[in-house]
Amino acid sequence: MSHDPNCIFCKIIEGKIPSRKVYEDDDIFAFHDINPWAPVHFLMIPKKHIASLAQVDGTHTDLLGRMMVLAPKLALQEGCRPYPEGGFRIVSNTGAEGGQEVHHMHWHVMGGPRPWLRG
Ligand code: 5GP
Ligand code: ZN
Repeated sequence: MSHDPNCIFCKIIEGKIPSRKVYEDDDIFAFHDINPWAPVHFLMIPKKHIASLAQVDGTHTDLLGRMMVLAPKLALQEGCRPYPEGGFRIVSNTGAEGGQEVHHMHWHVMGGPRPWLRG
């Protein structure tokens, strides 16, 4: 399924639910987390609905590679200080025991001066 009408992140991509956009291209969307843990906290998602990282396969290699290359650039753009003094954290909660609440694969990108609210 490339789009799930009941998925809140699919609705955010479509603009049916407003979000503070960080980045968009044909395949990738990034937006600020509504409940940030850190001074910088945004989510990166594929536009195609993929339930979690547990569902990825070889057809997603290019997408995942592009997301990973993009993440550090967006982190700097959003205010993370450069490595090594600054930096950022990428988290992809996967499944119930991984703490996943929204079942559209997403990467949390968090950074900024500590202390953080969580983590
Ligand atoms: P998970 O636990 O699934 O990794 O985290 C889902 C994240 O999505 C949470 O950090 C939560 O704050 C964020 N989130 C949930 N609903 C919305 C929303 O409607 N808008 C935005 N911007 N973030 C959301
Ligand atoms: Zn979705």
